[in-house]
This record gives sequence, structure tokens and C-alpha cells, in this order.
Amino acid sequence: MTTTPKILDGIAIAGQIKAEVASEVQALKASGITPGLVVILVGEVPASQIYVRSKVKTCGELGIYSEMLTPPESITTEEMLKLVTELNERPDIDGILIQLPLPKHVDTKRLLEAVAPDKDVDGFHPVNVGRLQSGQPGLAPCTPAGIMEVLRRSGLPVAGQNAVVIGRSDIVGKPAAMMLLNASATVTVCHSKTEDLPSFTREADLLVAAIGRPGYVTADMVKPGATLIDVGINRLTDAAEVERLFPRDADRAATFAKRGSVVVGDIEPAAFAVSGAYTPVPGGVGALTIAMLMQNTVTAAKLRRGLPVETK
Ligand code: NDP
Repeated sequence: MTTTPKILDGIAIAGQIKAEVASEVQALKASGITPGLVVILVGEVPASQIYVRSKVKTCGELGIYSEMLTPPESITTEEMLKLVTELNERPDIDGILIQLPLPKHVDTKRLLEAVAPDKDVDGFHPVNVGRLQSGQPGLAPCTPAGIMEVLRRSGLPVAGQNAVVIGRSDIVGKPAAMMLLNASATVTVCHSKTEDLPSFTREADLLVAAIGRPGYVTADMVKPGATLIDVGINRLTDAAEVERLFPRDADRAATFAKRGSVVVGDIEPAAFAVSGAYTPVPGGVGALTIAMLMQNTVTAAKLRRGLPVETK
């Protein structure tokens, strides 16, 4: 017997989280605390400009104070370090986000490590990586934290599930695997050197794809009824590829005709049909990242002041 897969609506879940954050911000303001976020955008990377603008806009909507700093492309590592040090010392700023990627001449690792761990709302600082690993309260990376919110708020089981994560980046794969492990899943992490990937994915009750390859996970690689979390954001500009992945999909064809591209995840759409539940692309995990950044900013504001933080 086959059942209709459940679509895990990231936009709706992000809306719930943002509403909760807005009311937490109001409560903090009532006790004289306004959470503050600074976003640093170096140079002029169009995609980064879009992300940063929408982060700043969301802060405004939720009552979070925000500043956007836009140093020129020519800024040096030392100048960036000075800027970060100043922000670390500012009492009105709870979160510091350095939009990546940075220009090649800037030492990204040094900079990320210079952000005060308690203001590291991206959760990339080694101290926060360690806190996540040891299950202490801290700031966790936004995209994997969004995955966990999707699962929790959709009432999907994690404890005892066989979870397979494809991808081992510091931003998505590794922290997602750690969060799933902390939630008592049995976790396998696969990557480009994994031999016979389908033999792992076919055993997964819960499959997280964070690869960066359009439609890489095919229907035959998926266990029927599994939960599929598609983190990939890939822009297709080849009409034949669009037709292959979205056969007879009039809406996608129209989008492609209008914009010259469509976005697809790492899981081919045909695989969703055999799943029990899945996050669509767009409108799945991607929709949650900014909501989780807002939540991290409020968490940072509370942790810095010794206020209690809800543990999930
Ligand atoms: P990275 O390129 O840093 O990591 C990709 C991972 O996939 C690596 O661990 C790599 O393995 C693995 N991989 C690559 N090819 C294969 C293969 N053929 N088989 C198995 N594993 C493979 O990407 P990110 O983690 O930063 O991002 C992954 C995807 O998620 C991208 O599409 C990105 O755009 C998207 N993304 C979405 C976000 C959001 O929704 N807000 C946020 C961040 C990312 P190895 O380590 O061996 O090289």
C-alpha cells in the first residue's frame, strides 16, 4: 500500500518560529533588553547582498536591532579583525555574522575564530562546535538547527531512527549529524569517498542530503516511506536537465522560460514520491535558515545576560 508523502512546509514552520521570536523580543524589550545583530558584508557579491538584505529586513520585522556593515573588497584580514574586536566589545550587540564567502585574501578561519563565542550566531566558532558536541547550551549552526526544527515541529521521530547524512561540511553535514546523534538517532555520515552510497541511503529512515549536486539522490536510492530532508540549493540553467528532473512539469517549465533557471535540491523530485515525508526545494530547509538566525540572536542576548534558554 502506498500513502501520499507529507510535504514538510519550511515556510510555514519558519513563520511559526519568527512569531515566537517576535514575542520573545517583546518580552526582552519589556525588561529593557533589545537584541542586536550586526551583519558584515565584504565587497559586492550579488547573492550575498540578497541574503544579507533579507536578514536585516527580518530583524526589523521581529523587533531586533540590526546594523549592516559593508567594508570594501580591499579590506585586509587585520582590518577585519579590528572591526570584529570592536563589535565583540559593544554591549548593545548580541550577534555578529560575517557573511561568507569572504574575498580570497582574507583569512576566513582566523576571522571566524575572532568572533566572541557568545556572539557567534552562525555557530561556527570552535567553542560552539565543542558545546554542540558535548550537549551544552550554546549557539548552533542555523541550517542544521532548522532541520531539527522541521523534524520536531512535524512530529517526525528521530530517536532510534536510522539517519544517513550525505555531506560532511562544517556548515551543514557535520553539525546536522551531531544534532541527530544528540537526538538519539543512529547516524551514518557519507561523503564523496563513500563506497556504494546507495547501500547506505537505502537503509535510511531519515535521509539528509547536503551535497550541492542537482538531483543526485535518485528514487532507487531511497527506502520507501523514509523522511527526506533536502538541503541542496542548485540552480539549473540547462533546459535538458530541467526536463530530465521535472518531466512534464508545466510550472517549472514556465519559471525556466521566464527566469532562465530553476532551483532544484540534491534529491531528484521523483524520489519524493516514494518517501513518507520530504522538504521541498524551494520552500523547505532553506526557508528556515534566517528564522534560526533570528532565534540564535535572541538566544545569544539571553545567554550573555545569564537568562534561561529553552533546551529542546
Ligand atoms: P560543501 O560543498 O561544503 O559540502 C558538500 C559535501 O557533499 C561534502 O562533504 C562532499 O564530500 C559531499 N559530496 C560531494 N559529492 C558527493 C558525492 N558524489 N557523493 C557523496 N557525497 C558527496 O557544501 P555545503 O555543505 O556547504 O552545502 C551543501 C548544499 O546545501 C549546497 O547545495 C548548498 O547550496 C546547500 N546549502 C543550503 C543552505 C540553506 O538551505 N540555507 C545553507 C548551506 C548550504 P567530501 O567532503 O568528501 O568532499
